[in-house]
Amino acid sequence: SRDSVKGFFKRNLFVLFTVAAVALGVILGFALRPHNLSLREIKYFAFPGELLMRMLQMLVLPLIVSSLVTGISSLDSKASGKMGVRAVVYYMVTTLIAVFIGIVIVIIIRPGKGSRDSPVANSGNIEPVQAADAFLDLIRNMFPPNLVEACFKQYKTVYKKIVHTRNVTVTLNITDSVNVTESNLSVNLSRVLRTIQETVEETVPVSGSSGGVNALGLVVFSMCFGLVIGNMKQQGQALRDFFDCLNEAIMRLVAIIIWYAPVGILFLIAGKIVEMKDLAEMGSQLGMYTVSVIVGLLIHGLFVLPLLYFLVTRRNPYSFIGGLLQALITALGTSSSSATLPITFRCLEENNHVDKRVTRFVLPVGATINMDGTALYEAVAAIFIAQVNDMDLNFGQILTISITATAASIGAAGIPQAGLVTMVIVLTSVGLPTEDITLIIAVDWFLDRLRTTTNVLGDSLGAGIVEHLSRSELQNQDAEEREISHKVMINFY
Ligand code: ASP
Repeated sequence: SRDSVKGFFKRNLFVLFTVAAVALGVILGFALRPHNLSLREIKYFAFPGELLMRMLQMLVLPLIVSSLVTGISSLDSKASGKMGVRAVVYYMVTTLIAVFIGIVIVIIIRPGKGSRDSPVANSGNIEPVQAADAFLDLIRNMFPPNLVEACFKQYKTVYKKIVHTRNVTVTLNITDSVNVTESNLSVNLSRVLRTIQETVEETVPVSGSSGGVNALGLVVFSMCFGLVIGNMKQQGQALRDFFDCLNEAIMRLVAIIIWYAPVGILFLIAGKIVEMKDLAEMGSQLGMYTVSVIVGLLIHGLFVLPLLYFLVTRRNPYSFIGGLLQALITALGTSSSSATLPITFRCLEENNHVDKRVTRFVLPVGATINMDGTALYEAVAAIFIAQVNDMDLNFGQILTISITATAASIGAAGIPQAGLVTMVIVLTSVGLPTEDITLIIAVDWFLDRLRTTTNVLGDSLGAGIVEHLSRSELQNQDAEEREISHKVMINFY
């Protein structure tokens, strides 16, 4: 039994380290709070955490590209097509369920009822965004004109105010009856048309770009590229080997960084706890809003997604989630699903033994477009803001919120607080004041961590589900490969 205890510790060493890091981080954070550190001191203190963030972000770009290219090129196009469809259906269904849960909860709890807790501080720097432009940006970002630029820039519509004059045609209807005599029948005048000029002020969308990786563009490119070199037979072998080798090398770097992860997480969490405002200052509306989001995320992450996993695979979802613990804690610490991606890969492949052909394909896509937690939060926040403004939403408006919240979650990058930015789309689509985003900023750092954790959980369970559904294709492919190597052997002798 001593050996089994030893074995248990060895297997769960990192999990233990990580859990211990969280606990220590919380203790250290609360111990330092009474010392009223300056912002500068907090930044120095949290430096080891910042380093972890930087290391993980460093790996994300080559990881996304190499894993998608090898993942897709190693599958035959029929198998990858089927797998892709399954993944996308899973993403859509779970995101819509998440939005639905959010809406039901925020309607039941009604966190925004009563009069406003606090007047909105008018921060005039929230840009106007039109839902239509945001949709177009999403599609534009899928096709980056410059791949190198896509590594650090996204396309984002910016608006410009212009004043111009335009011609307007005014119609005057003459309603008084005009006496028409037989002699002047030909002058039967009923309308007068006039053209006048008016000055108009218009905000027009102009091109623009903002920082951050355009992960969506790289994902689309890598998928197409993988598909093409997968079909190139012998000619594509050199490229397939290259990306395969690159992917392996990156994963080895991940295996090194993972040793440092608990230290980084400890300081990320402690730093945030030292920095955060006193929770007691939070108004009751904001408090109930926070509770609504948390309840929604818990229901979705701990019941709905596991149930779906169980219904499809008939396996225990919670032991699967146990294997993901390190990724979930990293998501909590970094509030970035793309920074967590390297760890998510490790957890799924090493602990849960999910087929690499599946993880390489679906994880980078999931981390980029599948964000259940973000979608749920966007819906709750929009309806909360409507409640605070005493605005009754009709069914059509709630439907609009569901659709735009889903789109906003797809468009949000996997970086800290990206969801807060895409929130503007949801608000403008139903005519809610965008400056009211300031109402929820105070708690966003906290909710961001929780929704990121839900996002990572959704991607990971999705990989498990897609693997289960695709097992016959994977087995066929294994059989084919065995046959090919068998033939090669026979030829060799
Ligand atoms: N931080 C989230 C993520 O990386 C995105 C969001 O802000 O909702 O998944």
